[in-house]
Amino acid sequence: MLARAAILLLTGAVVLGQAAPQSVTAVTLVVTNGIVVTMDADRRILTPGAVAIDGRDIVAVGTVAAIAAGYRAKDSIDARGAVVMPGLINTHTHAPMVLYRGLADDLALMDWLQNYIFPAEAKTVNPAFVRAGTRLAALEMIRSGTTTYADMYYFEEEIARVTKAAGLRGVLGQTIIKFPVPDAKTPEEGLSRTERYIREFASDDLIVPAVAPHAMYTLEAETLKSARQLADRERVPVILHLAETQDEVKIAQEQHKATPVGYLESLGFFGPRTLAAHAVHLTAQDIGILQKRGVGVSHNPESNMKLASGTAPVPALRRAGVPVGLGTDGAASNNDLDMFESMRQAALLHKLESGDPRTLPAADVLAMATREGAAALGMERMIGSLEPGKRADLIVVSMSAARQTPMYDPLSHLVYTTRGDDVRTTIVNGKILMREGRVLTLNEPAVLAEARKLAAEVRQAVAK
Ligand SMILES: [Zn+2]
Repeated sequence: MLARAAILLLTGAVVLGQAAPQSVTAVTLVVTNGIVVTMDADRRILTPGAVAIDGRDIVAVGTVAAIAAGYRAKDSIDARGAVVMPGLINTHTHAPMVLYRGLADDLALMDWLQNYIFPAEAKTVNPAFVRAGTRLAALEMIRSGTTTYADMYYFEEEIARVTKAAGLRGVLGQTIIKFPVPDAKTPEEGLSRTERYIREFASDDLIVPAVAPHAMYTLEAETLKSARQLADRERVPVILHLAETQDEVKIAQEQHKATPVGYLESLGFFGPRTLAAHAVHLTAQDIGILQKRGVGVSHNPESNMKLASGTAPVPALRRAGVPVGLGTDGAASNNDLDMFESMRQAALLHKLESGDPRTLPAADVLAMATREGAAALGMERMIGSLEPGKRADLIVVSMSAARQTPMYDPLSHLVYTTRGDDVRTTIVNGKILMREGRVLTLNEPAVLAEARKLAAEVRQAVAK
C-alpha cells in the first residue's frame, strides 16, 4: 500500500512537472499508443508502445507507461490501433522517371528503351524537369512511407536539393555513362560534375552524395576505375546496375571472357559502400565475390518481373551474408514507388521461384525493406530500426481498413495486405513530413499540376 501510494505520488508529480529533474526528460516528440514494430536485433514488438524523439534522434522506445513517466514532449502523436515502424528504405530508383510512369508498357526491353525511354529523356530531361519529377516522387514516397531512398539519375544536385527541401533522406548518385546525356557530353564531364556535386553535399544531414557509374556495359574500364577512385577519394558510396539481364552477361562474356561481377572484380572496382542494383544473373562465385567485398544488393522484384529480366538469387545472397535491400526501380518499369507492394512481390516471387512457401517469410521481407536495406547502404548504425541513438525516421501505418481486419499478426499484415495509402504519418530526422494524411513539406496540388503539365512535353517527345 505504501509502495502504491509512492507510485501515485510520483505519477502525479510527473504530470505536474514537479518531479526531480533527472527523472523526466524534455523531448520534442512522442509517438504513443501504437503497435511498435522496432525491427531491432531482437525484433521486439511492443503492443502497445511508444517512441520518444528529441531533435533528429530516437531517445527511447518502451511501454506507453514507461515513456509517459520518463519523458515530457512538446508534441505528441496518438497512434492507437496503428503500427509504428521504421521508415521504409527504397534502395533503388530513378526519382524523376515518375514523369514517364505508364508512358510505354509491355514492350521488349530494347524497343522500350530505344523507342520510348531514351528519346523521351533526350528531349525532356533538364534541371526544371528533374526538379518537378523529384517533387512528385518525394510526394509519393512520403505518402507511402519511404523515408530513405537511393537514386541514380542526371542533374543529381537538383534531385538532392528537392529531396532535402521535402525532408527525405537520400543516397543520391550522379550517373556517369559513356554516351552524351542531358547533363554531360562525355564521361569525363560526368566525373567532374559528380565531384562538384559531392562537394556541395559533403557532410549534409539528409543527403549522402554518391558516384553512380551506370553499368559495366555502358562504360569503358578506365571510367569505371576513375569512378571508383573518385568515390574513395571523397569517401562516398558507389551505386551501379549489375547483372540485370542475360544481355549484360553475354556482353561481359564476349568482351571480357568473364561474368559482369568477375569483370568488375578484375578491375578492382568493388569496395565497401558499393550498392549493386538487380544482381539477377549471378554464379556462386559471383556471390562469393560480392560477399568478400562487402557489396550491398538492391533487389527490385517488380521491375525484374515487368521487364522479364529474371529472378535474383535473393535467398542464396542472404545465406551468404550479402545485405539485400528492396527497391522499386524507376516508375517507368514498376510503375509506382510503393515499397509495401515491393515487399509483397518479393515474398510471392521467391516462393514461386523456389517452389517452397516457406521462402522469404514476412519477417524477412520486412527486414529487407528496413534494417537490411540500411546495411546494403552502409547506414545500419543510423537507420533501419527503432532504437535509441538512431535517427528518428519512422512511419505510422493505419491498420483499420476492411482489408486489414481482423489482425492477428502485424508483420503478416504489413507484408501481405498493407498498401502505401495506409501510411498516415511520416517522420524523417525527427521532422514530421506528413501528419494524419496531410503532407507538410510539399504543396501537393501544385506538384500534381506541374507533373500533368510536363506530361504534354513527354507525349510530344515520343510522338511518331
Ligand atoms: Zn535502375
